[in-house]
Amino acid sequence: MPVTIATLGFPRIGPRRELKFALERYWSGKSSAETLEDEARALRAGAWSRQRSLGVDHVPSNDFSLYDHVLDMSAVLGAVPQAYRAVGTPLETYFAMARGRGAVIEACAGHSHAHGGDLPAQEMTKWFDTNYHYVVPRLSPGQTFELTSTKPVDAFLEAKALGVTTRPVLVGPVSYLKLGKATQDGLDPLSLLDGVLPVYAELLRRLAAAGAESVQLDEPCLVLDLTNVERAALRRAYGVLADAAPGLKIMLTTYFGGLGPNLSTAVTLPVSGLHLDLVRAPGQLADALAQAPADLTLSLGVVDGRNIWRANLSNLLQRLEPAAAERRGLILAPSCSLLHTPLDLAQESALDPDVRGWLAFAAQKVEELDVLRRGLNEGRSAVRAELEASDAAVASRRSSPKIHDPAVQARVHAVTPRMARREGDFSERRAAQAARLNLPAYPTTTIGSFPQTQGVRKARAAHDKRALSDADYDAFLRAETLDAVRWQEEIGLDVLVHGEFERNDMVQYFGERLSGFAFTQNAWVQSYGSRCVRPPIIFGDISRPAPMTVGWWAYAQSLTDLPMKGMLTGPVTILQWSFVRDDISRSQTCRQIALALRDEVVDLEAAGAKIIQVDEAALREGLPLQRADWPVYLGWAIGCFRLAVSGVRDETQIHTHMCYSDFNDIIEAIAAMDADVISIETARSQMELLEAFSGGGYPNEIGPGVYDIHAPRTPTVEEMVELLRKAGERLAPDQLWVNPDCGLKTRKWEEVRPALVNMVTAARRLREPAA
Ligand code: GLN
Ligand code: ZN
Repeated sequence: MPVTIATLGFPRIGPRRELKFALERYWSGKSSAETLEDEARALRAGAWSRQRSLGVDHVPSNDFSLYDHVLDMSAVLGAVPQAYRAVGTPLETYFAMARGRGAVIEACAGHSHAHGGDLPAQEMTKWFDTNYHYVVPRLSPGQTFELTSTKPVDAFLEAKALGVTTRPVLVGPVSYLKLGKATQDGLDPLSLLDGVLPVYAELLRRLAAAGAESVQLDEPCLVLDLTNVERAALRRAYGVLADAAPGLKIMLTTYFGGLGPNLSTAVTLPVSGLHLDLVRAPGQLADALAQAPADLTLSLGVVDGRNIWRANLSNLLQRLEPAAAERRGLILAPSCSLLHTPLDLAQESALDPDVRGWLAFAAQKVEELDVLRRGLNEGRSAVRAELEASDAAVASRRSSPKIHDPAVQARVHAVTPRMARREGDFSERRAAQAARLNLPAYPTTTIGSFPQTQGVRKARAAHDKRALSDADYDAFLRAETLDAVRWQEEIGLDVLVHGEFERNDMVQYFGERLSGFAFTQNAWVQSYGSRCVRPPIIFGDISRPAPMTVGWWAYAQSLTDLPMKGMLTGPVTILQWSFVRDDISRSQTCRQIALALRDEVVDLEAAGAKIIQVDEAALREGLPLQRADWPVYLGWAIGCFRLAVSGVRDETQIHTHMCYSDFNDIIEAIAAMDADVISIETARSQMELLEAFSGGGYPNEIGPGVYDIHAPRTPTVEEMVELLRKAGERLAPDQLWVNPDCGLKTRKWEEVRPALVNMVTAARRLREPAA
């Protein structure tokens, strides 16, 4: 049987983000549901025909989604809370779940929330360790399920009508339930398995009746730590599904890691194929070959679906030849769905040609799979030219002076543990800083950014297009900064920020000023719904040719006698929100970023900054999927943060900010960061989340957010006083700072002004001696 190729899923948003614009037109009432459906149909047809012409044998369907594939599955299973059903048409119900109804959706780095309106959006969270967000299924005790949408069948028939027999993709039942959130404490989502299985069974029968020969059931939960009960649930589920439609082949699909102890379960499930991620876990190929029954088709995820580098095809071919000789039924695929990669390198005309030569986006990855397929089916000689080209790219990348900077490497080698430690311990630093800063009790500050108004965005766009000169843009930004500083003084904030008006994005701004980073024009990746990101590409050793923020900081400080915070994005966050090179370890790249930032921190101090904040918004989301891997990650991640901030004297105060509040399981690592002050998100949870920091477990100072910046409403003085009183019950009053939950860039000045005035009033009230 010849080797074939699959994609597991293809980018949905279209070559020019057509889906984004179609959705936004529909949501704003500028186009009809019919128009949206037509536009979506055209995108699906485009993806199918592109994959067909690239030679994909197993073209997926139902991988497309108008918002999110997990939400689609909820719609299929009838897992739709009553309130949403009443909204209107199925499409209106669907978007009400995704976005809320009459509600305002707010996004900040890493998450989004809906507020107000009559129906809130369903919660969203990150899909495993990706930057893609899914809509979390709500599961309640005794919940019933029924087939309420035939989207997967419809999509299959739509492709069939175009002459493409596809392999429908479904989120598997066990992963679906495990991704859900119980509405009631103590509910085990898997207790609902018997409720969902008949619906899955019905769906498989309908797909078979429509002419499907195989389906792809995604069970990425297999790469997580599973209990015996969960493994038994998988056996039960696939027993039922195998019987449901006996002629239909099931490709059980795993990704984002190795199966480890779950492999023996996976290879014995009654399915016809198993997909393995051999990029994250190359070692499991040998185990799978040894353990899998001879009739189990293996789908090998050999090109990286999570990154943008060209594969080393000669190496891969060499690894695959024995497997191909030994097994019937081999499929080659990316490690995971190509949803997580940009679509086509052909759209990047402005990239450095060397860097471009090292990259492969979704379309190029399929071409790589095609070369491997031909190499296995027809022999190496059939693909000699392609292998030579791949070898040449590998060699050029390996030796390019654009990547390898001996000075950076020498510096990384010379890092000592001492460099990641402040001079004095916290109590010494605290005394030195208090003497120098002379701040009142409950000092007030903000997280960094002020509203990125239309005016700011317009000026930036004009400057990018060279319609606004450097000098005019600079003058504009100075005026914005001046206004912000004056206003902060006026309302009586204690520690000021410059407002970040000059920053397009908290990672991109730094990437553009560091060497080793490249930026694309069209390499968009879906984050959720209509939101897309264009992550920077870290291709080489990282260094800082010149100070990145000192000029703006110094200008802002020159306007006031109050302390102006230096404001930087931390090394882990820069790493986490970029495409990272794969020729050295992530920890090494992170260390390079940390050293570059260390120089910036030291330069800020030398310029006179008394307080420097280093944001680590993405520290938590970098946690590995398997707990056993947490300590290693936290070890280097925290080490890199400390390396970045420890070059300063004791009297210089280091702040960090994290825009989430879930610290219970990593509180020791957070404490180990040893930031003098940390600001976190707590307003919405009524300070409950301070649990982790209470009980003397966290010695340093904390600013628990008292203003929920994700909501358009103005918090009252009383509310904020109450929140701070609550915080004061768990923490020493002299540990507390007063600040919002996160940066204010997504808000309007009309909202920010009264909220911060109230916040300052709340802090002053707490300073008054108790009556
Ligand atoms: N300093 C950044 C800001 O205020 C922090 C943003 C974030 O953590 N997401 O916008
Ligand atoms: Zn934040």
